[in-house]
Amino acid sequence: MTKRQAGSDNERKRASKVSAEPRMERVPRGRGNAGTGRARQADFVVIGGGSAGVAAAMRAASHGASVILVEREQIGGTCVNRGCIPKKMLHYGATWAAILSGCLSHTGGREDWSDAIVRVKAEMARLHASYTQRLQEAGVLVLRGEATVTAPGEVRVGGETLQARRILIATGSQPAPLPVPGGELASTSDDVFEWNGVPASLVVIGGGYIAVEMASILSRYGVKVDMLVRESRLLENFDADIAQALAEALTAKGVRLHLNTDVTVLDQANGAIEVCYRQAEAGSEGGNGGKDAKGKERTHSVRAQAALAAIGREPNLDGLGLEALGVAHGQRGLRVDRQFRTSVRGIHAIGDVTEGPQLTPVATAQGRWLADRLFGRRGERADFDVIPTAVFCEPAIGCVGLTEAAAIEAAGKPERIGTRIKRFVSLENRFAGNTMPSVMKVVYNARSGRVLGVHLLDNAAPEIAQSIAVALRLGVRLSHLETTMQLHPTVAEELFG
Ligand code: NDP
Repeated sequence: MTKRQAGSDNERKRASKVSAEPRMERVPRGRGNAGTGRARQADFVVIGGGSAGVAAAMRAASHGASVILVEREQIGGTCVNRGCIPKKMLHYGATWAAILSGCLSHTGGREDWSDAIVRVKAEMARLHASYTQRLQEAGVLVLRGEATVTAPGEVRVGGETLQARRILIATGSQPAPLPVPGGELASTSDDVFEWNGVPASLVVIGGGYIAVEMASILSRYGVKVDMLVRESRLLENFDADIAQALAEALTAKGVRLHLNTDVTVLDQANGAIEVCYRQAEAGSEGGNGGKDAKGKERTHSVRAQAALAAIGREPNLDGLGLEALGVAHGQRGLRVDRQFRTSVRGIHAIGDVTEGPQLTPVATAQGRWLADRLFGRRGERADFDVIPTAVFCEPAIGCVGLTEAAAIEAAGKPERIGTRIKRFVSLENRFAGNTMPSVMKVVYNARSGRVLGVHLLDNAAPEIAQSIAVALRLGVRLSHLETTMQLHPTVAEELFG
């Protein structure tokens, strides 16, 4: 401890004032305190108010030192005044200009659905052609038709019978239908990609990945969105702080959130769709079943030009004949073991049709690993325990590892888990003139410092989550993050240092 650290309260207050708000006091040449016989006292004089000087001064002040920082021009040095910050903001302008002039040139600068969807479909067509060509080049025969597994080792497609020692079920999933009267009036995410234009208003039913992504995207295309969410928050499986910040951002964008709702019926009314729902009191966890104080059901409704149900996806099993063969399945899909074997010998299953996570990279990794194992070298198994994931809303979410709640549950006691959370408005958003929030949260083991989860809200979040997943797999600790050099100016640097 320095002498100053043991100093008086007044000194500490003075030091913290210096650290919070450096006073700029001009010292004219040839004057100052020379001749008064009294010198200014400090523990630390820093010459240069750039990145280095400010950092040193602030850190010293935070330790109780009295600090004088000398700068001949504006505080902030090259980075703030002639470097990183203005450069990066101009970079946003230049990049956005290029992107926007490419995308919006047909529409005179408006975000226009019919224009966007044409370009989306062009990319889909390019991918179809590319997949077909690659399969052909690999010597894979592609048959078009509905397949039924008629016996282990035998598949029928139309009039043809195919035989193979191994059969792989990789039929994926489809949007779950809304199980209420009139549920068929609701569109699904499949339909959205066929829309040539957007409805003026939309009720989104659900609070998971797809509901959030669609609400966020469509509201940007001018759709007035109401969300009916069954839970007391969005994105139940994501970290609560991130979900809360996202809910605030969506609300600020004009999306109306109705939480604790239970959709009861959909009806057509004068060209619109009316969605009726019960709403439980906030905090009641739906426990009162949406009843008022007298026990009467409280029913509400919201009308819109269209409704979209995004309430989960269910496995595509119809017509496959698997039940007749006794292939076991649970509520969410086919049961498989670690080697993706179903309960029937010779029949494997991977991807969305199984009970595992419904994520493209997971399905791809499963497919490659299984093919290696069955037909080639035994490849190294991907780590399916650490799966980074993203929600492409605005701001976007990227995360990997345990949420704070899951970590506490696994540890047994809250004090065993530490968190570090930063909330800020990014430079990108400052340049855009908005106050869209960014949040970065690290969940770690309070004793060992091992990082258990990283949860990010920012448009760069998915990119960061992908890279930080490697660190998590390798057992990164909070101290590693704190001592890793930051890359400035980025959003990711807020995770470090
Ligand atoms: P999710 O499982 O993410 O969310 C389903 C939501 O619908 C939950 O809020 C759920 O509430 C609610 N729900 C379920 N049944 C009803 C009902 N009867 N009435 C009202 N609400 C209901 O499913 P999604 O459809 O959003 O997405 C399916 C899967 O697709 C995801 O799990 C994900 O794996 C994948 N996906 C991944 C994306 C990505 O990686 N960016 C993007 C899109 C999809 P409750 O919690 O109460 O059950």
